[in-house]
Amino acid sequence: MILMENKPLAPFTTFGIGGPARWFTEAASEEDIVEATAWARERGLALFVLGGGSNLLVSDAGFDGLVLKVGLRGITVAESPGETRIYRAAAGEDWDHCVQQAVDDCCAGVECLAGIPGTVGGTPVQNVGAYGQEVASAIERVRAFDLVERKFVEFTAAECGFAYRRSRFNSVDRGRYIVTRVDYRLTHGGAATVRYGDLQRVLAESKPEGRELSLAEVAAVVRRVRQSKGMLMVEGDPNCRSAGSFFKNPIVTEEQVERIAKASGKEPPRFPAGAESAGRVKVPAAWLIEQAGFAKGFALGRAGVSSRHTLALVNLGGSSSTEILALAGQITAAVEARFGIRLEMEPVMIGF
Ligand SMILES: Cc1cc2nc3c(=O)[nH]c(=O)nc-3n(C[C@H](O)[C@H](O)[C@H](O)COP(=O)(O)OP(=O)(O)OC[C@H]3O[C@@H](n4cnc5c(N)ncnc54)[C@H](O)[C@@H]3O)c2cc1C
Repeated sequence: MILMENKPLAPFTTFGIGGPARWFTEAASEEDIVEATAWARERGLALFVLGGGSNLLVSDAGFDGLVLKVGLRGITVAESPGETRIYRAAAGEDWDHCVQQAVDDCCAGVECLAGIPGTVGGTPVQNVGAYGQEVASAIERVRAFDLVERKFVEFTAAECGFAYRRSRFNSVDRGRYIVTRVDYRLTHGGAATVRYGDLQRVLAESKPEGRELSLAEVAAVVRRVRQSKGMLMVEGDPNCRSAGSFFKNPIVTEEQVERIAKASGKEPPRFPAGAESAGRVKVPAAWLIEQAGFAKGFALGRAGVSSRHTLALVNLGGSSSTEILALAGQITAAVEARFGIRLEMEPVMIGF
């Protein structure tokens, strides 16, 4: 185990913000995870598990404990009964690389999740989703280290408690498990799952005469659409110095929809909220933010709203987490005052 002291965390986050970790180490194996967590426990240190840093806001003061970066590597096809392929990916693998490998192998199930930054281990934590697809529908099994029992355990998808941007790992069991491996159940030769209207339209326009788009082509279109919204990590693009969507889309009742319509004088767009929220709908947080007076490109000091997507707050250059939170606070207050809806932050905050 190589331990580093006072390691700046900003370079490990897509926001590019955050003070140092008192202690920092990278785990390349499950044995490293056991060793590093035992080391922190013996010293009574707080532990933070870092993946790709794409869903984080780290405080300017940093983190007074051990930051354990999960660096386990390897992707294999563990089982292949019939058309099913079980992709077994180590938690430190880059998620988009994993998607690319699957689509190149003509395996369907994660193609609309192309271009989401971060690691494989981060995907079950907040049940990543985009364009009508969620990783919950592809996950077969999650292997993790239980910090309470100090042993490795495995969960089926049903045991992960998936819901919109939620799982047991970021709710009831937050901080208890370190994900080391995820198995995804994909379908060889399967068709792309495209439920999202805007994406269906762009795909129809991209479709060559006389044949369907391959999964790899669908993934490429998804990345192009994401790039146009500043939601793809592209070197030099200032819009991706962010944590992606800063707010979750609120899930609201029909009465709340009526209140929004009355306050804005417009019918808000809305989407089904999923089986776990029967009778309620999801309203885009981006729409509410715009209606509350924040346009793309709005700036408050060195923190801003992305010039391509209202839902992403960006570090305009040299911003601090204090500045990002000041902007987030202004937005939250304005949306609440106008519509009576309290927006919830999506990124994980550390060191506050
Ligand atoms: C430009 C951009 C676009 C984005 N678009 C989307 C999108 O479309 N959909 C979406 O859902 N998200 C999106 N995100 C958010 C982010 O990419 C995902 O949440 C991603 O899964 C985070 O993974 P990570 O490895 O970077 O996790 P980190 O940011 O490092 O950590 C996030 C949380 O997960 C925990 N964690 C990470 N790895 C592990 C592990 N191995 N074991 C246990 N806990 C772990 C951390 O402790 C922390 O609590 C976007 C982000 C950016 C910057």
